[in-house]
Amino acid sequence: MTGAEAAPVGVLALQGDAPEHAAAAAALVGPKRVRLVLEPADLSGLGALLLPGGESTTLSRLLDESGLRAPLTAAGRSGLPILGTCAGLILLARELEPSPGGKDPVPLGLLGVRVRRNDYGRQAESFEAPIPFPDLPGGPFPGAFIRAPRILAVIPPTRTLAQLAGHPVAVREGTLWGLTFHPELSGDLRLHRLFLSSAGLLGG
Ligand code: GLN
Repeated sequence: MTGAEAAPVGVLALQGDAPEHAAAAAALVGPKRVRLVLEPADLSGLGALLLPGGESTTLSRLLDESGLRAPLTAAGRSGLPILGTCAGLILLARELEPSPGGKDPVPLGLLGVRVRRNDYGRQAESFEAPIPFPDLPGGPFPGAFIRAPRILAVIPPTRTLAQLAGHPVAVREGTLWGLTFHPELSGDLRLHRLFLSSAGLLGG
């Protein structure tokens, strides 16, 4: 294995469920190729980056404090494959609906979606549901939704990969992918595999 195929997979580890994403990536590329990203130098040479779920306001603040915001935005603009899940999707979003009376994160503005945080209602703050994924072999994906954001609009050329009850829950714009749920908590590696494979990181 040479070149891009051997590049490390980064996991933003400022806050949130980075360990679960790191474990999923390690299962696919081996633990030596997984790099926790805590500062700008950690972005160097990455083949792809995973943005975990967590608390998007905290993540947004830590992106500023760590100095990662500008280099991460630049990397995403210049083609670094990035998969954002839940709070990670909120961070990737181009447009964020203001929370009523709430403090909101400042998104990176990379992925063509408009999102609203915590939009699945209090009683259903967390739920699991099988997600039909037309392009994913092996049947519906077990979706874990935890205080999930809702994708209100998909801005072309971003396209919807999967919907649940009429709402997009998985989107992709070129090298940028966003999921409103948590594949890293499901024990199902198919979406990590699809993402890393599309980034050219899984070899033949
Ligand atoms: N509700 C959280 C936020 O707005 C996201 C939840 C999650 O990542 N599980 O940041």
